[in-house]
Amino acid sequence: MHIVLSPDPILRQKCEPVDPSKIKKLRSTAKSMAKLMYKSSGCGLAAPQVGIPLRMIVVDCNFAADGEEAIESPTFYINPQVTYQGGEQEIDEEGCLSIPGISIPIKRFTRITVEALDLDGEPFVVEAEGFHARALQHELDHLDGTTMFEHLNPLDRIKAFEVYEEAVQGGAKPGDTGAVPADIAAAQPKASALHVED
Ligand SMILES: [Zn+2]
Repeated sequence: MHIVLSPDPILRQKCEPVDPSKIKKLRSTAKSMAKLMYKSSGCGLAAPQVGIPLRMIVVDCNFAADGEEAIESPTFYINPQVTYQGGEQEIDEEGCLSIPGISIPIKRFTRITVEALDLDGEPFVVEAEGFHARALQHELDHLDGTTMFEHLNPLDRIKAFEVYEEAVQGGAKPGDTGAVPADIAAAQPKASALHVED
């Protein structure tokens, strides 16, 4: 298993829901995804990023934040659904394991509630705030074929892609973060993500 890099077309496709009767068969894949995420110092990874066009993500924001005392506690979300998105909107820089060597400022909601199935097929709900909410929104985007580039206006997208391509040619690998390209405006949430409920 390896991380697929932009502009691989799998990163732009809408992923299919997982058949709940087949969740057991996905367990080892899910665990491998988590392993790869930790190895790459990421706090989230979506199935399409490892070449699997299914609605499954893994997120662990504690691991990245805890540093040396890190305890791996990945949360696996199968068929995640956003049931609430709101709070403030904040701009912060994001990186992506599929887009190494570059960071992009993206405006995100500070609160999100997600319902999903776990690796036993049991439903659960997560209410996330702040960085955790941001990480979830980033990974959920991947399931609909949206990468950080799609959040940018067309001109900034071209500029950012050029900087990214240079970074990859210069040897950037998944987990390498980079600077924000010069003159890039903070990216807005995509219109499709704007179902705010408050
Ligand atoms: Zn990403």
